[in-house]
Amino acid sequence: MLHIDDLKVTLDADAGLVRAIDGMQLTLQRGETFALVGESGCGKSMTALALMRLLPDNGRITAGRLELDGREVFGLSEAQMRGVRGGRIGMIFQEPATSLNPVMRVGAQIVEAIEAHTALRGAQARAKAIDWLRRVGIPEPERRIDEYPFRLSGGQKQRVMIAMALAAEPDFLIADEPTTALDVTIQAQILQLLKELQRERGLGLLLITHDLAVVAGMAHQVALMYAGQIVELAPATEFFAAPKHPYARLLLQALPDAGKRGAALAAIAGTVPPLWLQFEGCRFAPRCDRAMRHCAAQPPQLSQVAPTHEARCLLYSAPGEALPAAAPARP
Ligand code: SF4
Ligand code: MG
Repeated sequence: MLHIDDLKVTLDADAGLVRAIDGMQLTLQRGETFALVGESGCGKSMTALALMRLLPDNGRITAGRLELDGREVFGLSEAQMRGVRGGRIGMIFQEPATSLNPVMRVGAQIVEAIEAHTALRGAQARAKAIDWLRRVGIPEPERRIDEYPFRLSGGQKQRVMIAMALAAEPDFLIADEPTTALDVTIQAQILQLLKELQRERGLGLLLITHDLAVVAGMAHQVALMYAGQIVELAPATEFFAAPKHPYARLLLQALPDAGKRGAALAAIAGTVPPLWLQFEGCRFAPRCDRAMRHCAAQPPQLSQVAPTHEARCLLYSAPGEALPAAAPARP
């Protein structure tokens, strides 16, 4: 089990101190998919980088605990952390160019991951690498295994990267928009593969996405993030059937067709506030269609609103007088 408690991350930026993540909590069980959802800039990717202790140079974890099967991870040395990264917790980044070595054949990179994290060696590791390339949908894997990354298309590089992460047989996988760049057929194949690995080996998947159709098809638990905080946390079925936070409701109302790929998250009016601001009240208030008078002054806490459902909204904890003009301006 992977458990994060009260994670806070700041970034030093020209505009000032950015509170990129402000009190994040989540629990990921083995065999389960936990989807982290939100517009870009809400802190999803930063959460992933913090978990892997791979924050950019201007980033800092200022509070929080990360436990992996009961063991605290943020306190580990960098050398110990290298043992965790890849083997225990794998990661698929948004941008494949950053994690493939351009001067090494793709097969050698996958074999390296297999030899570092499993008992297979030599010809067996190579056969396994070919098998992984096949499973992620690379055509003619026996031939492609000896290509250099520059010979592959962007989508193929993305798949090689996924193969490399899976080849290390991690217990947990953090996947940041793993299929966004891929075409629909390949996306479906990769998501199916992740589900199979979940069944076969109890892989725990932290899926970072802005695609609610992918969430609906994959996730057991959903956390919706807004401006560096979780605003709603629930089992996926409840999230879709009975969203509680006004932001969640607006997002789901704006979904043109839940079965359609790439269902846009940005379809609601307004933009995410810049995170160097000091917030006094609810961060969502400027965009909220249910905002009340005290929402601008009182910061809501994440609290239980149903037996297995949490939301960060004063409608549930401190209901009050509605604003006269309830609907926010459209863009
Ligand atoms: Fe809307 Fe107020 Fe709830 Fe914030 S606290 S989401 S402004 S109703
Ligand atoms: Mg991102």
